[in-house]
Amino acid sequence: MKLLEERILKDGTVLPGNVLKVDSFLNHQIDYKLIKALGEEFYKTFQSAGVTKILTVEASGIAIACAAAEHFDVPVVFAKKGHHKNVGTDVYAADVFSFTKGITNTVAVSKKYISADDQVLVIDDFLADGQACMGLKNICDQAGASVVGFGIAIEKGFQNGGKLLRETGIPVQSLAIIASMTDDSICFADNN
Ligand code: 5GP
Repeated sequence: MKLLEERILKDGTVLPGNVLKVDSFLNHQIDYKLIKALGEEFYKTFQSAGVTKILTVEASGIAIACAAAEHFDVPVVFAKKGHHKNVGTDVYAADVFSFTKGITNTVAVSKKYISADDQVLVIDDFLADGQACMGLKNICDQAGASVVGFGIAIEKGFQNGGKLLRETGIPVQSLAIIASMTDDSICFADNN
Protein backbone atom coordinates (compact mmCIF):
# COMPACT_ATOMS: atom_id res chain seq x y z
CA MET A 1 0.00 0.00 0.00
CA LYS A 2 1.71 3.11 -1.33
CA LEU A 3 0.45 5.46 1.38
CA LEU A 4 1.85 3.29 4.17
CA GLU A 5 5.15 2.64 2.40
CA GLU A 6 5.66 6.37 1.83
CA ARG A 7 4.93 7.11 5.48
CA ILE A 8 7.37 4.44 6.66
CA LEU A 9 10.07 5.95 4.42
CA LYS A 10 9.30 9.46 5.67
CA ASP A 11 8.91 8.83 9.41
CA GLY A 12 10.11 5.32 10.23
CA THR A 13 13.48 4.75 11.87
CA VAL A 14 15.42 1.53 12.12
CA LEU A 15 16.60 0.55 15.60
CA PRO A 16 19.22 -2.06 16.43
CA GLY A 17 17.91 -5.63 16.47
CA ASN A 18 15.73 -5.35 13.36
CA VAL A 19 13.12 -3.15 15.02
CA LEU A 20 11.33 -0.54 12.95
CA LYS A 21 10.14 2.41 14.99
CA VAL A 22 6.93 3.92 13.67
CA ASP A 23 5.66 5.41 16.86
CA SER A 24 5.13 8.89 15.42
CA PHE A 25 2.14 7.62 13.38
CA LEU A 26 1.21 4.01 14.14
CA ASN A 27 1.71 2.78 17.66
CA HIS A 28 2.28 5.63 20.09
CA GLN A 29 1.18 8.86 18.46
CA ILE A 30 -1.50 7.81 15.99
CA ASP A 31 -2.32 9.33 12.61
CA TYR A 32 -5.92 8.23 12.58
CA LYS A 33 -6.51 9.27 8.97
CA LEU A 34 -3.78 6.82 7.93
CA ILE A 35 -5.07 4.14 10.29
CA LYS A 36 -8.55 4.56 8.79
CA ALA A 37 -7.10 3.97 5.33
CA LEU A 38 -5.46 0.74 6.58
CA GLY A 39 -8.81 -0.41 7.96
CA GLU A 40 -10.43 0.21 4.56
CA GLU A 41 -7.78 -1.88 2.80
CA PHE A 42 -8.45 -4.84 5.07
CA TYR A 43 -12.15 -4.47 4.37
CA LYS A 44 -11.58 -4.49 0.60
CA THR A 45 -9.72 -7.80 0.89
CA PHE A 46 -11.80 -9.62 3.50
CA GLN A 47 -15.31 -8.21 3.00
CA SER A 48 -16.60 -11.49 1.56
CA ALA A 49 -15.00 -13.70 4.21
CA GLY A 50 -18.00 -13.63 6.54
CA VAL A 51 -16.06 -11.93 9.36
CA THR A 52 -18.01 -11.86 12.64
CA LYS A 53 -15.22 -10.64 14.90
CA ILE A 54 -11.87 -8.91 14.71
CA LEU A 55 -9.21 -10.14 17.10
CA THR A 56 -6.00 -8.35 18.01
CA VAL A 57 -3.62 -8.08 20.93
CA GLU A 58 -3.15 -5.09 23.20
CA ALA A 59 -2.04 -2.46 22.71
CA SER A 60 -0.78 -1.49 19.30
CA GLY A 61 -3.19 -3.57 17.23
CA ILE A 62 -6.29 -2.00 18.75
CA ALA A 63 -6.50 1.22 16.74
CA ILE A 64 -6.07 -0.59 13.41
CA ALA A 65 -8.57 -3.27 14.41
CA CYS A 66 -11.13 -0.62 15.33
CA ALA A 67 -10.62 1.20 12.02
CA ALA A 68 -11.33 -2.06 10.18
CA ALA A 69 -14.28 -2.93 12.42
CA GLU A 70 -16.04 0.26 11.39
CA HIS A 71 -16.38 -1.23 7.89
CA PHE A 72 -17.10 -4.82 8.85
CA ASP A 73 -19.57 -3.63 11.51
CA VAL A 74 -18.43 -6.33 13.95
CA PRO A 75 -16.93 -6.15 17.46
CA VAL A 76 -13.22 -5.93 18.15
CA VAL A 77 -11.79 -8.22 20.81
CA PHE A 78 -8.27 -7.64 22.05
CA ALA A 79 -6.31 -10.28 23.91
CA LYS A 80 -5.01 -8.98 27.21
CA LYS A 81 -1.43 -9.47 28.27
CA GLY A 82 -0.64 -10.95 31.67
CA HIS A 83 -3.07 -12.13 34.27
CA HIS A 84 -5.84 -9.61 34.76
CA LYS A 85 -8.28 -10.00 37.55
CA ASN A 86 -10.93 -8.30 35.45
CA VAL A 87 -10.62 -10.87 32.62
CA GLY A 88 -11.40 -13.61 35.13
CA THR A 89 -10.28 -17.20 34.98
CA ASP A 90 -12.71 -18.36 32.34
CA VAL A 91 -10.34 -17.57 29.49
CA TYR A 92 -8.63 -18.95 26.45
CA ALA A 93 -4.91 -18.25 26.89
CA ALA A 94 -1.72 -18.66 24.88
CA ASP A 95 1.93 -17.92 25.57
CA VAL A 96 3.45 -15.43 23.18
CA PHE A 97 7.14 -14.55 22.96
CA SER A 98 7.48 -10.82 22.40
CA PHE A 99 9.95 -9.98 19.64
CA THR A 100 10.50 -6.43 20.85
CA LYS A 101 10.60 -7.07 24.60
CA GLY A 102 12.31 -10.48 24.55
CA ILE A 103 9.93 -11.91 27.15
CA THR A 104 7.03 -14.35 27.03
CA ASN A 105 3.60 -12.97 27.85
CA THR A 106 0.45 -14.94 28.43
CA VAL A 107 -2.32 -13.39 26.35
CA ALA A 108 -5.90 -14.17 27.22
CA VAL A 109 -9.42 -13.65 25.92
CA SER A 110 -12.53 -14.20 27.98
CA LYS A 111 -14.54 -17.21 26.77
CA LYS A 112 -17.54 -14.87 26.55
CA TYR A 113 -16.10 -13.04 23.56
CA ILE A 114 -15.04 -15.81 21.15
CA SER A 115 -17.17 -18.78 20.29
CA ALA A 116 -17.34 -21.70 17.89
CA ASP A 117 -19.57 -19.84 15.44
CA ASP A 118 -17.15 -16.94 15.03
CA GLN A 119 -15.27 -16.24 11.81
CA VAL A 120 -12.31 -14.25 12.99
CA LEU A 121 -10.10 -11.74 11.21
CA VAL A 122 -6.82 -11.43 13.14
CA ILE A 123 -5.21 -7.99 12.84
CA ASP A 124 -1.86 -6.73 14.10
CA ASP A 125 0.46 -3.80 13.47
CA PHE A 126 3.59 -5.89 12.81
CA LEU A 127 4.45 -9.37 11.65
CA ALA A 128 7.97 -10.43 12.70
CA ASP A 129 8.33 -14.07 13.76
CA GLY A 130 4.59 -14.67 13.86
CA GLN A 131 4.29 -15.41 17.55
CA ALA A 132 1.54 -12.89 18.27
CA CYS A 133 -0.63 -13.99 15.32
CA MET A 134 -0.09 -17.69 16.01
CA GLY A 135 -1.01 -17.10 19.66
CA LEU A 136 -4.25 -15.45 18.57
CA LYS A 137 -4.93 -18.34 16.19
CA ASN A 138 -4.29 -20.75 19.07
CA ILE A 139 -6.95 -18.91 21.11
CA CYS A 140 -9.41 -19.18 18.21
CA ASP A 141 -8.61 -22.90 17.85
CA GLN A 142 -9.36 -23.45 21.54
CA ALA A 143 -12.71 -21.72 21.08
CA GLY A 144 -13.50 -23.74 17.95
CA ALA A 145 -13.68 -20.47 15.99
CA SER A 146 -12.34 -20.18 12.42
CA VAL A 147 -9.61 -17.74 11.48
CA VAL A 148 -10.58 -16.44 8.03
CA GLY A 149 -7.66 -14.08 7.56
CA PHE A 150 -4.64 -12.30 8.93
CA GLY A 151 -4.45 -8.56 8.31
CA ILE A 152 -1.03 -7.09 8.99
CA ALA A 153 0.01 -3.46 8.62
CA ILE A 154 3.78 -4.03 8.34
CA GLU A 155 5.37 -7.39 7.64
CA LYS A 156 9.11 -7.72 8.01
CA GLY A 157 9.57 -10.15 5.14
CA PHE A 158 13.08 -11.10 6.21
CA GLN A 159 11.75 -12.72 9.39
CA ASN A 160 9.93 -16.04 9.64
CA GLY A 161 6.40 -14.97 10.53
CA GLY A 162 5.11 -14.58 6.96
CA LYS A 163 6.13 -18.14 6.08
CA LEU A 164 4.65 -19.51 9.29
CA LEU A 165 1.30 -17.80 8.75
CA ARG A 166 1.06 -18.63 5.04
CA GLU A 167 1.79 -22.28 5.78
CA THR A 168 -1.50 -22.41 7.71
CA GLY A 169 -3.31 -21.88 4.39
CA ILE A 170 -5.19 -18.93 5.86
CA PRO A 171 -5.09 -15.79 3.65
CA VAL A 172 -2.56 -13.19 4.81
CA GLN A 173 -2.71 -9.57 3.74
CA SER A 174 0.29 -7.41 4.61
CA LEU A 175 -0.12 -3.78 3.58
CA ALA A 176 3.63 -3.15 3.48
CA ILE A 177 6.27 -5.86 3.29
CA ILE A 178 9.80 -4.83 4.16
CA ALA A 179 12.33 -6.89 2.22
CA SER A 180 15.34 -5.42 3.97
CA MET A 181 16.25 -2.55 6.22
CA THR A 182 19.42 -0.91 7.45
CA ASP A 183 20.14 2.28 9.40
CA ASP A 184 19.76 4.38 6.29
CA SER A 185 17.56 2.41 3.89
CA ILE A 186 14.29 0.51 3.86
CA CYS A 187 13.38 -1.63 0.83
CA PHE A 188 9.92 -3.00 0.21
CA ALA A 189 8.96 -6.27 -1.43
CA ASP A 190 6.34 -6.18 -4.15
CA ASN A 191 3.17 -7.29 -2.36
CA ASN A 192 0.63 -6.74 -5.12
P1 5GP B 1 5.86 -11.43 16.15
O1 5GP B 1 4.93 -11.94 17.21
O2 5GP B 1 5.33 -11.58 14.77
O3 5GP B 1 7.26 -11.94 16.31
O4 5GP B 1 5.98 -9.86 16.42
C1 5GP B 1 4.85 -9.05 16.27
C2 5GP B 1 4.61 -8.22 17.47
O5 5GP B 1 5.82 -7.65 17.97
C3 5GP B 1 3.70 -7.06 17.11
O6 5GP B 1 2.54 -7.16 17.91
C4 5GP B 1 4.49 -5.80 17.41
O7 5GP B 1 3.89 -5.12 18.49
C5 5GP B 1 5.87 -6.25 17.81
N1 5GP B 1 6.89 -5.97 16.77
C6 5GP B 1 7.58 -6.89 16.06
N2 5GP B 1 8.48 -6.30 15.28
C7 5GP B 1 8.36 -4.98 15.49
C8 5GP B 1 9.04 -3.83 14.94
O8 5GP B 1 9.96 -3.92 14.11
N3 5GP B 1 8.62 -2.61 15.38
C9 5GP B 1 7.63 -2.48 16.30
N4 5GP B 1 7.30 -1.22 16.65
N5 5GP B 1 6.97 -3.54 16.84
C10 5GP B 1 7.34 -4.77 16.43
